[in-house]
Amino acid sequence: MAEFDVVIIGAGPGGYVAAIRAAQLGLRVACVEREAALGGTCVRIGCIPSKALLESSERYLEAKAQLADHGVRVGSVELDLAAMHARKDAVVKANTDGVAYLFKKHKVERVQGTGRLAGPGEVAVDTADGERRLKAEHVVLATGSRVAELRGVEVDGDRIGTSSEALAWDEVPEHLVVIGAGVIGLELGSVWRRLGAQVTVLEYLDRILLGVDAEIAREARKVFTKQGMDIRTGVRVTGAAVQDGRVTVSVEGAEDVVADRVLVATGRRPNSEGLGLEEAGVQVDAQGRVVVDGRFATSVPGVYAIGDLIHGPMLAHKAEEDGVAVAELLATGHGHVDYGLVPNVVYTDPEIASVGRSEEELAAQGVPVRKGVFPFSANGRARAMAHTEGRVKVLAHRETDRVLGVHVIGPRAGDLIAEAVAAMAFHASSEDLARVIHAHPTLAEAVKEAALAVDGRALHI
Ligand code: NAD
Repeated sequence: MAEFDVVIIGAGPGGYVAAIRAAQLGLRVACVEREAALGGTCVRIGCIPSKALLESSERYLEAKAQLADHGVRVGSVELDLAAMHARKDAVVKANTDGVAYLFKKHKVERVQGTGRLAGPGEVAVDTADGERRLKAEHVVLATGSRVAELRGVEVDGDRIGTSSEALAWDEVPEHLVVIGAGVIGLELGSVWRRLGAQVTVLEYLDRILLGVDAEIAREARKVFTKQGMDIRTGVRVTGAAVQDGRVTVSVEGAEDVVADRVLVATGRRPNSEGLGLEEAGVQVDAQGRVVVDGRFATSVPGVYAIGDLIHGPMLAHKAEEDGVAVAELLATGHGHVDYGLVPNVVYTDPEIASVGRSEEELAAQGVPVRKGVFPFSANGRARAMAHTEGRVKVLAHRETDRVLGVHVIGPRAGDLIAEAVAAMAFHASSEDLARVIHAHPTLAEAVKEAALAVDGRALHI
């Protein structure tokens, strides 16, 4: 008999959630992770530390430039970057320790080392004490992704860094060049801009935030530009050379840009190497993603894959849902994730959040829609908070009124979108959303008003 019902390789949001859910369902579970701290990229070097720094840098800017408007005088404001990083590290530790606690609570066996498939029902782990073999009925691959390399730009971990380095710089860059106007580039670019850096964002496409509804992304660009970011689109970076602590970034068809730090944020790629996939016969696609069916099963019986390693958006919460679903499939035979309802959030100020299809996607698919928009400038709570930038946009089917997409740029958009996801999960119409009672005065009233606006009956504009 196998030692474990399931062995999971990787303890990021996909792997650790799969482990907990499988244990809840009574399976014997081991989770292999090479890092000493659990939680993966999200908890150690991604979502959690970046949100800690976003929060701190927002407070700094607020104290420096915005509190006076509220009648709060704070005198001179100074940045203590070391304390800011220490706080971020403490936030990360609370989260990684939290995952370790949850493993103990659910009796998930944690195996520290690098795991790989080693024959049917077997995982080999390179540990500090040599190789350990684990026998498993099922193996779940959850090894996540890493920063994609950019040809011509070699990350040196000092002047040229990825998000990992940009979360730990011990001084504020004088001039930071961000390559890529995606989520990472704009979130971390915002952090360093608020802390005083000159920030230039170089983006290959003619727009920022590919995947975000174009109208919302255009508004975001205006706001970030107003915040002092120099965003240049239609610019392809072809190389970067370091000399005497300065980096010269070369750009196709335009002048070089010189900076003291460079952040490479041009996407991520799956960690599908070194897992023994080829030897085992696990199929991998041209982008390095493990090919799975609708039940997360790979081409090899008993081997499953979830999260950033497979298709779908590379997001922690999508990986978590994959983890729950694969555990439930293994234990009960049922489990499913609707990738059409994965919310997307960019934690800039204002935040940007969406669920469902964008206006352009619906137009391209020939779906007839009605659109309702409501600006935060007409929302009482947003005015009281002095965060009136942005809007909510609801897209509903012209005939059935079913909500097909909700897009928000504005204060706490990441929290507001939860209502839209729940509504869409229950196939709500814009009329349903509009008739739900929303507390006054709250930011969420903007969602209700945008739903009313679909039918031309917003009350407060
Ligand atoms: P991204 O794919 O979001 O953006 C990368 C950008 O770089 C694209 O706009 C692309 O056009 C541009 N680019 C590529 N090559 C270029 C070149 N040579 N010159 C100039 N621009 C170039 O990738 P990311 O921001 O690195 O994020 C990686 C992944 O991590 C994404 O899947 C993202 O969803 C995820 N992530 C999510 C969050 C969040 O949910 N808040 C936060 C961080 C990261």
